[in-house]
Amino acid sequence: MSIVLDAVLEANRKYAETFGSKSELPIPPGRKFAIVTCMDARLDPAKFAGLAEGDAHVIRNAGGRVNEETIRSLIISHKLLGTQEWFVIHHTDCGMLTFTNQVMYDLLEESLESAALGENGWYNPEKEGGSRAGQYINFLPIQELEQSVVDDVTYIRNHPLVSKHIPIYGYIYDCKTGKLVEVKEATEVGKAE
Ligand code: ZN
Repeated sequence: MSIVLDAVLEANRKYAETFGSKSELPIPPGRKFAIVTCMDARLDPAKFAGLAEGDAHVIRNAGGRVNEETIRSLIISHKLLGTQEWFVIHHTDCGMLTFTNQVMYDLLEESLESAALGENGWYNPEKEGGSRAGQYINFLPIQELEQSVVDDVTYIRNHPLVSKHIPIYGYIYDCKTGKLVEVKEATEVGKAE
């Protein structure tokens, strides 16, 4: 029996007990904005950006990177659900800074089980049962943090399906202080017409 499963279901039982007026919330986010950010467990957008249920869209993935999947969510967020301002928020000490696509391909080719990070980078404690299929995925690792924010805001800004009226703000969340630090070049690229 999974300890995690039991704990999650117990926490949810308590949450639902005081659900109250949240049952009346409409689908469109009340504060009309969206955040793209990393899935890193240390980041809690509801807390660092002051969100309650119903306030905003939060689109999370490894790195808070932007690709066609992220664009898909952003287009729906704006076109059908009315968000008018978007944030791209990457963060210090991101795991996406610790590998390249080639490193990931090699790790997966050797084993599918969890790797470990040693002094000389990532390695596999287990060394069998891998797959070469990793090569077909761009894992979107990050080489330089500010540049990745600029790149992702630029990708959104230049996308043919994104309205020029939506400002896109670029920030880095500092895991040591909890502060959002603006990437000015990104916000400049992302400014609305
Ligand atoms: Zn991260």
